[in-house]
Amino acid sequence: MNKKRILTGDRPTGPLHLGHYVGSLANRVKLQHEYETYVLIADVQALTDNFEHPEMLGENVREVVLDYLAVGIDPDVATIVLQSMTPEIHELSIYYMNLVTLSRLTRNPTVKSEITQKSFGKGEFDDEEEHRLAALGVNPQVPVGFLAYPIHQAADITAFNAHLVPVGADQAPMIEQTREIVRKFNALYGETLVEPAALIGAVERLPGTDGSPKMSKTLGNCIDLKDTAGEVEKKVRGMYTDPKRIRADIPGTVEGNPVFAYHDAFNPNVDEVNDLKDRYRAGKVGDVEVKKKLAAALNAFLDPIRERRAVWEARPKDVDELILESTRRARRTTGPVLEAVRDAMKVNYFGHLD
Ligand code: ATP
Ligand code: MG
Repeated sequence: MNKKRILTGDRPTGPLHLGHYVGSLANRVKLQHEYETYVLIADVQALTDNFEHPEMLGENVREVVLDYLAVGIDPDVATIVLQSMTPEIHELSIYYMNLVTLSRLTRNPTVKSEITQKSFGKGEFDDEEEHRLAALGVNPQVPVGFLAYPIHQAADITAFNAHLVPVGADQAPMIEQTREIVRKFNALYGETLVEPAALIGAVERLPGTDGSPKMSKTLGNCIDLKDTAGEVEKKVRGMYTDPKRIRADIPGTVEGNPVFAYHDAFNPNVDEVNDLKDRYRAGKVGDVEVKKKLAAALNAFLDPIRERRAVWEARPKDVDELILESTRRARRTTGPVLEAVRDAMKVNYFGHLD
């Protein structure tokens, strides 16, 4: 029997961090044998807000692949795909653009908050049209490519006819957009595409070291999977905690405190975590001890990841070859899906070119 498929991925905009791990990577590693798994490096999507510096993406791609191999994605089992070498995705995108309205795109909550966060453009409006759009809540200086990236993401997923998409909670609106496109496509052109489901990670949204709700490359509040033990200790020492605890004997709040969120996610010693929480609430433990124990737990978690990374880091040519070979393999899946799409749409008036 054919296995169901997984498609998920990351933008190569920097090293992967603990948020990626709990939101998505852990599920990929866990499910790679059960599902036919494709892991996409979304370098074309990384261009949507980095198009002025495409040259830096190549190195980022290698780094992301090293992170994948380090966490235990097995290249003999899962298929790593480089988006820019998979033209079927881009062609699907163009077809799907006709199925989505501008108002649907501007309503996407993730896109909305990312636009605010990244502050596109110079913020001064040139003419009446820009003022009119701004008054409607649409940043007139957002590149069309950025606004349309949820459509491109729908193309990523459906190019593999994936059933399941392991992602962090911030990506849920993207999967919803994909499902809408699939339903619309199938209704118009006949049952062709699989409607995918999101699989949200054990920790839906890991907070940042600065206490903001999401650890994110853009916000620079990350502990990276490739950080050294010393870097982890330093970042943990500087972490945001309960601000009202200026002394160790002041009772503290555990809920919403990122230090405890990380303990919950990465410290397997539940008794130790519960004891720290009790003493924290009672004002009987200093932040220094809570953080020391956290750094130790994080480093114990990261050590095997660092070791696997080092093995692959010493073989850069093999990593490059793996990217090419694996993407070639992926296209044996995306090619037939694109043909089925063209057939369904009857964009096959003259048959197929070889
Ligand atoms: P950028 O700031 O460049 O968008 P990012 O840190 O948000 O980077 P992405 O590459 O956009 O990372 O996310 C890749 C995957 O990791 C997505 O499935 C996303 O939901 C998940 N993810 C990222 N950050 C977190 C987090 N803090 N908690 C849970 N999941 C996360
Ligand atoms: Mg993101």
